[in-house]
Amino acid sequence: MKNVIILGSTGSIGTQTLEVIEKLENYKVLGLSCGKNIELIKKQIEKFSPKFICLQNLQDAKNLSVIYPNIKFLWGEEGLLELIDNKYDVLVVATSGIVSVKAVIKAIENKKTIALANKETLVMAGDIVMKKAKKYKTPILPIDSEHSAILQCLNKVDNPYAKRLWITASGGPFLNNTREEMKKFSAKDALNHPRWSMGKKITVDCATLVNKGLEVIEAHHLYNFNYDNIKIAIHPESLVHSFVEFEDGSFLAQIGTPSMHIPIQYALTYPTRKKGIKTNSFCPWNKQMNFFEPDFKKFPLLKLTIDCGIQGGLMPAILNAANEIAVYKFLEGKINFLDIEKIVFKEIENAKNSINPTIEEIFEKDKEIRLKLSKL
Ligand code: MG
Repeated sequence: MKNVIILGSTGSIGTQTLEVIEKLENYKVLGLSCGKNIELIKKQIEKFSPKFICLQNLQDAKNLSVIYPNIKFLWGEEGLLELIDNKYDVLVVATSGIVSVKAVIKAIENKKTIALANKETLVMAGDIVMKKAKKYKTPILPIDSEHSAILQCLNKVDNPYAKRLWITASGGPFLNNTREEMKKFSAKDALNHPRWSMGKKITVDCATLVNKGLEVIEAHHLYNFNYDNIKIAIHPESLVHSFVEFEDGSFLAQIGTPSMHIPIQYALTYPTRKKGIKTNSFCPWNKQMNFFEPDFKKFPLLKLTIDCGIQGGLMPAILNAANEIAVYKFLEGKINFLDIEKIVFKEIENAKNSINPTIEEIFEKDKEIRLKLSKL
């Protein structure tokens, strides 16, 4: 029996992880954490009978502990760290933000397998996290379609004959629009993703292609590849989820219907596949698969994001924080679509980098940028 803890169980990845666990044999939910979606967590408690629940607020924890006296309720950031101190097999990190970074570091030290859906962890603190993971021999398995595809193709994380990683990108909703047209697009246009259904923030990141840049940074850390050997292929059909080019000239690709259930299930059952959830298969007759070079001029934030990854230090954290604040301003209708890049470029131009920052310095910088930009 494998015991699983899910951080962020009421979000998009969290709920899909529970759908996967329901179909897998011998997997049990030990603990869940969520923010404020109390109605949904109640349903999850009744269906999966976890032993531990961590909530954002003390009052919610108190209220629920009256209804469910056999469950241990925790709350806040400290509760989260207490939750992951338990005995279990896999920690699914499906929350966003830097709270998850702290949780991941603690789980690494506890030598727990981590199934990671949170982007900030590797983008902000990839060097520190991966160094720690290596030291404690803790597996970090990606819950992201591209990185999971690469893991499935590599077979072993340190495959010495892998030459290049090719990360595919749908190109987002504005792939065929001009920059002049992009200016006029609203949050509603940007949220209309052609292939994947995801959270709002990440969907806007797909429209600016920042998401792809962040995935390049993640791939660099996860698989220890130089940035020169990580390429992006625009693939509008989203059937090939990424591929690996080997020294002998062959390519291995992972192909399937766009569904997060596959990367989630693979992270839970790694290194094997197990009978579990089934996604819609398809017949390959007449399926078109196109691949193009990305247009860095039309999507300047893509190049900027990768450049920040190459520079390393505090730059990815600065970019991540500035982008997040800008995206929320766009979602609130306060700025137009192309203002997102203006805000991020300005922040990066003025940024002072520091090489080998500590985790505290990274968090401090993140806080500073968010505070500054949210006042604008
Ligand atoms: Mg992805």
